[in-house]
Amino acid sequence: MDAEKRLILVLMGPPGCGKGTQAKMLTETFGIRQISTGDMLREARAADSEIGRRSSVFMDAGTMVPDEIVIDLVAMRIQNRDCAGGFILDGFPRTLAQAQALDEMLGHRKLAIGQVLFFDVPDEEIVVRITGRVSCVLCGKIYHTTFNPPPTADTCACGGYLLQRPDDNVTTVTSRLAAYRESTEPLVRYYTDKGILATIHGGGSTIEQVSGRVMERMAAITGAR
Ligand code: AMP
Repeated sequence: MDAEKRLILVLMGPPGCGKGTQAKMLTETFGIRQISTGDMLREARAADSEIGRRSSVFMDAGTMVPDEIVIDLVAMRIQNRDCAGGFILDGFPRTLAQAQALDEMLGHRKLAIGQVLFFDVPDEEIVVRITGRVSCVLCGKIYHTTFNPPPTADTCACGGYLLQRPDDNVTTVTSRLAAYRESTEPLVRYYTDKGILATIHGGGSTIEQVSGRVMERMAAITGAR
């Protein structure tokens, strides 16, 4: 596929804003890969790799894993053949240094971000969303025990077992929100200045309503490509 036809999306917003759920919807709709640095770090941790061991302490505390670790992970990942048609970055970049590193790695390959989707959700909703969130160990589908309940308390539609992430608790959420405000929120300005950011209102909305807003935005950019 031509470099300029590759669809490269960045999904950003506070923890629990729904970017993982919307990334899955976009993956199915456009047939491009979701690259979640959080998932990659959890996999590294489960495999007890060096990256996993170095990242654990930060993840448990709800703080940022050092830039050089995540930048290297993403730089390697986007070279895979399965990213040839484009990809969706979910949870990266989260700092200015990561955003600049991403610009550089894409620039070297004559690629560019097509759209940054910023999911705006008020803090008071975040805690409720995160503390009720469970996901499937097999297919990764995300549920909410109240707002998007699974078929049974501990089973996904695919039959996989549902687990709550260890960092999805009230104490860690507070640190994650503080890290987000300090390091990630400034990227809203960074991408607004580049003219590639669209704000998607996620507060007080169903998954379907948010998906509808995302698809409206996608129609605007894919129609223009
Ligand atoms: P997430 O699944 O996106 O909520 O990420 C879970 C945790 O992984 C975060 O709280 C961070 O500790 C770490 N993490 C994920 N992505 C990044 C990133 N781009 N930069 C730094 N830390 C990250």
